[in-house]
Amino acid sequence: MNSDALNPPRNGEVAARSADGGGPLHHASDGSPPRAGEVLRVRYQFPGIADWHYLDSAATAQKPQAVIEAIAQAYGPDYATVHRGVYQRSSDMTARYEAARDAAARLIGGQPNELVFTRGATEAINLVARTLPKNGRNRVLVSQLEHHSNIVPWQLAGFEVDAVPLTADGQIDLDAAEAMITEEHCLVGFAHVSNVLGSILDVRRAAEIAHSKGALLLLDGCQAAPRLDVTFVTLGADFYAFSGHKIYGPTGIGCLWGRSELLAQMPPLQGGGAMIEKVTFEESTFLDPPARFEAGTPHIVGAVGLHAAIDWVREIGLGAIHAHESALVAETRAALRSIGGVTVYGPDDSAGIVSFNVDGVHPHDTATILDDAGVAVRAGHHCAQPLMRWLGVEATARASFAAHSDSSDVEALVRGIEQVKRIFG
Ligand code: PMP
Repeated sequence: MNSDALNPPRNGEVAARSADGGGPLHHASDGSPPRAGEVLRVRYQFPGIADWHYLDSAATAQKPQAVIEAIAQAYGPDYATVHRGVYQRSSDMTARYEAARDAAARLIGGQPNELVFTRGATEAINLVARTLPKNGRNRVLVSQLEHHSNIVPWQLAGFEVDAVPLTADGQIDLDAAEAMITEEHCLVGFAHVSNVLGSILDVRRAAEIAHSKGALLLLDGCQAAPRLDVTFVTLGADFYAFSGHKIYGPTGIGCLWGRSELLAQMPPLQGGGAMIEKVTFEESTFLDPPARFEAGTPHIVGAVGLHAAIDWVREIGLGAIHAHESALVAETRAALRSIGGVTVYGPDDSAGIVSFNVDGVHPHDTATILDDAGVAVRAGHHCAQPLMRWLGVEATARASFAAHSDSSDVEALVRGIEQVKRIFG
């Protein structure tokens, strides 16, 4: 293990402020400009990747030390339940749980009373699908690039699902969406950023299209929240879902933001403790949102860890993270194209994600050879089988970046792919 990776930047590296007013970005102060993808030097804060080229952050993000420490502290000396105890430590923990809700809401420009903690984005979308009043509208409009968790919940809840096609470079075709939407559509559900192609949705236009026929807009923000400024999304969307573990926080915690008047119309999905007002054997009444949707003892430490992760991301600045990842994406696309015999998918300005296939080689073989070279990429259908059919492939390999990624990861990826080509002739 390279112990340097855990050490702060050496002499000769100074802290600078990010362009959007965020926290420390480290760059070399010897006068040489940083190379693309080396502006943000936070790798040393990630104990999980010391000498590993981790390019699977779209599946789950590695955790910075600040998050790991917040979780250890919350499970250790600070641990207590929330919302019930009258003793001091429990009220302290309750305050921290609610502070986490506040931070998560502020991340997307929302209010805390509109922010429901869930197990993740999957549970968040299922919650909407199961409880949203249909008001006589039985269709939802999704897109060809959606993750299964923005398709299957609608089917299970009895909706008819229509899929908007993609443009040639892999963006949701909003002209087609405009032509397809009808007054039978209860909701439009789009990925803010595709987990396979990295395509970024035009949120404003998607909102105009949904609202033009009285439908609601749900955005799957799983891949956007860790890599884009998302403070504006509540201006256009009616629901926003994201997962803690993809934004450098723990697994088992996620968020559903919904407009308060919509949440107020939705019945609870689960019954139990912490969500009731009054219980008799004849009937029960329920608390207002968000408590109404959080039956049982919640993921207390998950919320504390998510708060630490959100603070960490905000300290760096999502604008800076996006710029950093975009430079790496550009470097990767150019390098893969220059190798030859590699098909690269998605738009050039994809957010932090590059899917590709080495021609004639199954992506599982590509990923296995890359693993031998210390490079972790995902290979498979990425829970997006309809998108694979649209691409005309069974599967792809996918490299996805994070704040800690740098040009050494891209170089290792390229060396690994050259090895794949040598092995497969
Ligand atoms: N949507 C997208 C775009 C995703 O990338 C993922 C995770 N791969 C999900 C939804 C589901 O997230 P989770 O498994 O954390 O609920």
